[in-house]
Amino acid sequence: MKYLDQIDVSGKKVFVRVDFNVPMDKAGNVTDDTRIRAGLPTINYLREKKAKVIVASHLGRPKGKRVDEFSLKPVAPVLAGLLKTDVAFIDDCTGEKTHAAVNAMQPGEVILLENLRFHPGEDKNDDAFARELASLCDVYINDAFAVAHRSAASNTAITKFAPVSAAGFLLKNEIEYFNKAMKDPARPLVAIIGGAKVSDKIKLLENIIDNVDCLLVGGGMAFTFLKASGISVGNSICENDMLELARRIMDKAKAKNVRLLLPTDTLIAQAPSADAERNIVNIRDIPDGWMGLDIGPATIASFSDAVNEAKTIVWNGPLGMFELVPFSSGTFKLVDAVAQSGALSIVGGGDTDTAVHKTGKSDKISYISTGGGAFLELLEGKTLPAVAALG
Ligand code: AMP
Repeated sequence: MKYLDQIDVSGKKVFVRVDFNVPMDKAGNVTDDTRIRAGLPTINYLREKKAKVIVASHLGRPKGKRVDEFSLKPVAPVLAGLLKTDVAFIDDCTGEKTHAAVNAMQPGEVILLENLRFHPGEDKNDDAFARELASLCDVYINDAFAVAHRSAASNTAITKFAPVSAAGFLLKNEIEYFNKAMKDPARPLVAIIGGAKVSDKIKLLENIIDNVDCLLVGGGMAFTFLKASGISVGNSICENDMLELARRIMDKAKAKNVRLLLPTDTLIAQAPSADAERNIVNIRDIPDGWMGLDIGPATIASFSDAVNEAKTIVWNGPLGMFELVPFSSGTFKLVDAVAQSGALSIVGGGDTDTAVHKTGKSDKISYISTGGGAFLELLEGKTLPAVAALG
């Protein structure tokens, strides 16, 4: 796979596929510009090299039709403000008008195209649509990691038609950090896996158990493992149809000499609500009618010790119902431990990312992935189609 800094882009028409799928309020104002900022290093580099920068993205799920609320138009002024230059908005991404706009560009200029998903060919990874997109450019750059696990015309088929294709800096970072952590890690490699359900993370667990030295399981999914070990979990979230799988993972960990740590205590409540009565109990003492909503202090201590010994840490999924303040300390204390560990640390998945940002310690984490589903699929051992297409 080629990277942006390995190809000649100066004076060229460069089509950059980004992920500017940003949240907006009802009035159409961008409420969080994180994803736009994530695309800046690539766009700024292209401008410095005097490329003509054609920026394209999806927004929401308009299902192949023009839907006003999913227009990328409000993104243009935000991008312009961040780049400190004009950004013309073109209200389509193919066709005569778009070609005319591209042909009128000067080196170093930036234009933003309308939502790629207004065309049905985008989500269908359609060759004809991809050919139209490719006809706009001399060079194609993919910098949209968050959608790299889904084949679309603008991230997969387009590479068949663009004269040159390469990964932008965001995609490069994602892949390089992931490879550093999972392909050739400094050991011990510790994985922290949490979140609500085992069923969402079966493939991930089965894949990483072959690679990690230590696996810390928290969050709601820990209760399925605990029940599979013969512990009574009360009303805690638990997937009874996953008990066999949980046993299999635990057996595999034993066979491979992987340290698998489950919670030894938990913060319980009678309901998942911030004002419910709470109690900390040993994991074997969850009373009927109560549910575990966070890991307890003994678990925080043992998980933190394991993190302290790590040279590499990969984390997906919160360790408790962290959205509610009373059940957030397990997740937040582990962010502290990871931040202080000095290990190479990679965090990914929507909720984990949110939790880290809430603690204000995100600059102490080596890398926070921008892709929820794409990051999960990498952890599952899959090759992402949009990455494979660049190969
Ligand atoms: P996931 O998307 O699989 O990473 O799951 C994230 C969700 O898991 C968050 O919304 C958490 O509130 C939830 N969660 C974490 N721990 C628990 C728990 N002990 N009981 C119920 N839900 C939990």
